[in-house]
Amino acid sequence: MSDLVIPPDLLPEDGRFGCGPSKVRPEAMARLAEVADGLLGTSHRQPPVRDQVRRLQDGIRTLFRAPSDYEVLVSVGGATAFWDAAAFGLVEQRSRHYVFGEFSGKFATATDAAPWLEEPDLVEAAFGSRPTPGSAPGCDVQAFTHNETSTGVMQDPVRADDALVLVDATSGAGGLPVDITQVDAYYFSLQKGFASEGGFTVALLSPAAVERIERIAASDRYIPTFLDLATALGNSRKHQTYNTPAVSSVFLAAEQVEWLLATHHDLDGVVGAQQAKADHVYGWAQERPFASPFVDDPAARSLVVATVDLDETVSATEVNAVLRANGVLDTDAYRKLGRNQLRVGMFPAIDAADLAAYTACVDWIVEQLTP
Ligand SMILES: *Cc1c(COP(=O)(O)O)cnc(C)c1O
Repeated sequence: MSDLVIPPDLLPEDGRFGCGPSKVRPEAMARLAEVADGLLGTSHRQPPVRDQVRRLQDGIRTLFRAPSDYEVLVSVGGATAFWDAAAFGLVEQRSRHYVFGEFSGKFATATDAAPWLEEPDLVEAAFGSRPTPGSAPGCDVQAFTHNETSTGVMQDPVRADDALVLVDATSGAGGLPVDITQVDAYYFSLQKGFASEGGFTVALLSPAAVERIERIAASDRYIPTFLDLATALGNSRKHQTYNTPAVSSVFLAAEQVEWLLATHHDLDGVVGAQQAKADHVYGWAQERPFASPFVDDPAARSLVVATVDLDETVSATEVNAVLRANGVLDTDAYRKLGRNQLRVGMFPAIDAADLAAYTACVDWIVEQLTP
């Protein structure tokens, strides 16, 4: 099957459509190569690297129109580490979690396992849909997931009470609209919407989140230093991280933020481009007899991760095998979802023309595979 050779004129220019890690722009890699000698392999406590951290922090602040009293926390670890850090340093007693896929479930698992916290309050929805947010009496944190990467469902955070609003924006950040004044901690890794690499955390924090972090850190709760958000904040204010970061990740993300602002002017501009790409992919799925969008509610369909179910006449495994053999990569469904599905990254770095090429390639493969 994977002997099929897709006609070269159908192929995308860049074949990376994964949902994380995802495409790193070659232009950013070329810039990294130009500056690498003065940057990689040099101290992260000296100005050249700290200037890159500051550049990333400033870019994030601008892109999200953060009020001047918000802080941009930077840390080593990624979103998974932030869940544990938040269980230690942001949740006072009990958290409410909106669970509608793998990633939203993982944060709930982390707070559930923390013996110093009460059992979390879960509001769940079937995978492919989203839960309804509301007030959560007795909870001091409301935990949202801006984009459930495992299912391709997006959900806007809502401030429903005076709990802190924490948003895992790892795949949504930089591609979905957000009113940051309604969020207390908007946190993400860099290997999805920011076209960089894994292992790094950025979090936009409101004054209320900072107050909570400092209060819990000053209490007698034990917090491992690596996961201590107060320690991370202290370092972030000096444009450095507590322990050694991957400097290339910081640089690539800073390049991406500046590229987003240069090419789309602001987040609204980026979101407009995302909408057009999503319209293409979902529109294509609706037109094809063998395909349909997995997410029923059009308003919940992600602008950054498209999930497309295939019917029994076409095997997603076979389609993906042919794509992979032709250099078109990583559009497998989330493994635990277990569906006959294509899951396509549409992050800002991924070109509209390449998404059009992607759907054309799938059309061509289906034509070859079906008698
Ligand atoms: C990828 C992803 C994560 C995990 O990110 P890591 O950097 O691997 O920790 C968490 N949440 C969401 C929504 C994701 O898409």
